[in-house]
Amino acid sequence: MSFSRNEDITRLSQQAGFRHIYFLYHSEEKTIVLLVFPYTPYKDDIHIPANYVANNSSYFSKKELINLLFENGIEATDVFVPIKPLAAKYGVGSICLNGLLCINGLGTRMAMHTLLIDSSICMPVIYDHSKELTCDKCGACIDACPFGAISLNGIDYKKCMRTYMNDATHSDAVKENLTTYMGCERCQAICHLNECVGFCDVPAHISDAFEISRLISGDTKEARRLVGKNFTGNGKLTAEAIVFAARGGLLTKELIALASDSPFDAVHDALRWAKEYASKE
Ligand code: SF4
Ligand code: SF4
Repeated sequence: MSFSRNEDITRLSQQAGFRHIYFLYHSEEKTIVLLVFPYTPYKDDIHIPANYVANNSSYFSKKELINLLFENGIEATDVFVPIKPLAAKYGVGSICLNGLLCINGLGTRMAMHTLLIDSSICMPVIYDHSKELTCDKCGACIDACPFGAISLNGIDYKKCMRTYMNDATHSDAVKENLTTYMGCERCQAICHLNECVGFCDVPAHISDAFEISRLISGDTKEARRLVGKNFTGNGKLTAEAIVFAARGGLLTKELIALASDSPFDAVHDALRWAKEYASKE
């Protein structure tokens, strides 16, 4: 059997914007193509989620790739599988205590997608990277997690705040602890496996889209375009901007007035919390 189409698929995937491509066993008939889209997080105090920006960009890269493959006579379909255990099983990388996959050179900083392609077109490969970068159970993420979600046994997703952030209105405990819009980055930011990636400045157009008074005024259109619209509706980014402004001592009367007419419950809940937060300071 020939591996030539693996090379074609790799080339086309890179053309579409993916950096690393892996071919994993799915069944006798099908191979899973794992597409990895690395990113560099933005500096810690900025709150803009580089992972969601990357995830959204990579979604469009995947669509472009499906078209490119089709034009080259290869039919690929979207498939949703538990990526991390599969990638670890076939030696792409290893799973850390914080539940994330780490890959040498990328740490845990990546968006991933999977496609299903006939194994007559591309062959699965067993990789041997699982020992190259591994969690040494240093415990830094255990100490950093504000919800006690990580232990030496791994992560308990029921305790991780990200599990409870799909809706626009967050609990007060989440408001106090979220580190980025739509999420928490503490366990990744502290992890020495990510030192190889570091942090970067935010590109100007992304910084503009997430400008805090712009979000608080309800102008979230461009920010939502950048991070995806699925989980950012109902005033979520405005509510989170209010939280960050309150925690940073930046929530002026003018900013509060900008948000006061919002039609969204999440925004009014954030204003309520911000008032209580300010009274405790
Ligand atoms: S901080 Fe330490 S224990 Fe946590 S994932 Fe990273 S290497 Fe593993
Ligand atoms: S994302 Fe935040 S809440 Fe979830 S495990 Fe990591 S540090 Fe804990």
